[in-house]
Amino acid sequence: MKIIDLRSDTVTLPPPEMRKAIAEAELGDDVFGDDPTVNRLEAMAAEVMGKEAALLTISGTQSNLTAMLSHCQRGNEVVLGDKSHIVHYEVGGAFALGGLGLRTVPNDEQGRLELTEVRRAIRGRDVHYPATGLICIENTHNLCGGSVLDEDDLAAVRALADEHDLPVHLDGARLFNAALAMRVPASQLAQYADSVAFSLCKGLACPVGSVLCGSEEFIGEARRYRKMLGGGMRQAGIIAAAGVYALENMVGRLADDHENASALAEELASLPGIELAPPPQSNLVYFTVEGWSLGELVRRLEERRVLCLDEGGRIRMVTHYGVGGGDVEQAVAIVRSLVAAGA
Ligand SMILES: *Cc1c(COP(=O)(O)O)cnc(C)c1O
Repeated sequence: MKIIDLRSDTVTLPPPEMRKAIAEAELGDDVFGDDPTVNRLEAMAAEVMGKEAALLTISGTQSNLTAMLSHCQRGNEVVLGDKSHIVHYEVGGAFALGGLGLRTVPNDEQGRLELTEVRRAIRGRDVHYPATGLICIENTHNLCGGSVLDEDDLAAVRALADEHDLPVHLDGARLFNAALAMRVPASQLAQYADSVAFSLCKGLACPVGSVLCGSEEFIGEARRYRKMLGGGMRQAGIIAAAGVYALENMVGRLADDHENASALAEELASLPGIELAPPPQSNLVYFTVEGWSLGELVRRLEERRVLCLDEGGRIRMVTHYGVGGGDVEQAVAIVRSLVAAGA
């Protein structure tokens, strides 16, 4: 029986056609700028995001750290949400490797930054204060349930940043999901940020990679910091070929993931004791289950070949390329039988 792996969209395996594109990729040494496939991916990504230039990196974590280093000076503070991925899941690289402070402000349940708090967090000029160097936002917002920042939210952050002459970095690991939910091109959401990073290795089903996009000047700087972080890759066209394939073939199908997530959420919410936390806006489904230790429920589901995560008081299930509508139905049936039998 198939394992239904709902832990993350990072578990996606490359489709056969993507593997073929990888095998046939034209290659060169990218540190010399000679890999035509990397150059092609970077040009495509820049265009999709409406930016001048782009840079392939190893991971979203590397993209975000590279962006922070490129925008800031050592000793600067980065203002960002207290539920942001950079704060929770990126190993404190900003402090440890960047000499940067992370100055958090509350994220509301939609993943927005509370703007009055952002205003308060931005430092004035005073001999006692570290300088504020950057504002970071996240869309879709992982810990806020895959929630989507709309254009009003993004424009408000942009306006505030402009008032203080600060750059904005958008952690758009799942920006294509946000764009899909808003029914706008990704570039329309990216226009409010100076730099944007999106993941290749999540819903787009590439084996590795992320792309950081911004101005020519910014990407020139980012290229140096990526090298410093050990991210100067040689025949990286092997990786980029998957990205090219993904931008051409995998973006449109994210709609299936959103449909599957809403179907999953609706079915789960109809079961006794289950509450969505919150209802999904993209491909992430979070829920609570009354009367269960969630760790125990996750273990019992695993015995029945349904994988998901216990994430601090909520269960997380993520829909993706490796999960079809039938898998969702089967997962729901298994949850139903467990919940009906009781803890
Ligand atoms: C997954 C993710 C990242 C980091 O990507 P990795 O490739 O796992 O390093 C960054 N930000 C958000 C919002 C993510 O979901």
